[in-house]
Amino acid sequence: MSETTETIFSKIIRREVPASIVYEDDLVLAFKDINPQAPVHILVIPKKPIPKLDDAEPEDSALLGHLLLTAKEVARQAGLTNGYRVVINTGADGGQSVHHLHLHVLGGRYMSWPPG
Ligand code: 5GP
Repeated sequence: MSETTETIFSKIIRREVPASIVYEDDLVLAFKDINPQAPVHILVIPKKPIPKLDDAEPEDSALLGHLLLTAKEVARQAGLTNGYRVVINTGADGGQSVHHLHLHVLGGRYMSWPPG
């Protein structure tokens, strides 16, 4: 792994930092973004501290699939029946600021394209 694996998200997983958690199982955690960019803005993270998508390996295939299915489930629970967007910012040009892989689930308004 290319970067430190200890981030604010590790502290959220360990309940050392509070977060509004909406889903948890053995492998993943989902919680509301502290600075929401849409009426619904949920982060879905693996408990395994993979810094970014580039650091995922073939052995993580099932985990990556589980993250996507969790994104679908939290969107359903949030009532996003009219659609939503799932985003993975990766690296400097991708605008990633927290170096623990996370999926943004954004919804509750129309999402324009292209992104900024
Ligand atoms: P990135 O820019 O890395 O794709 O997204 C990181 C996201 O984490 C941002 O949307 C930011 O608002 C969110 N975030 C950063 N620190 C915290 C925190 O302590 N708690 C929560 N709930 N979200 C955070």
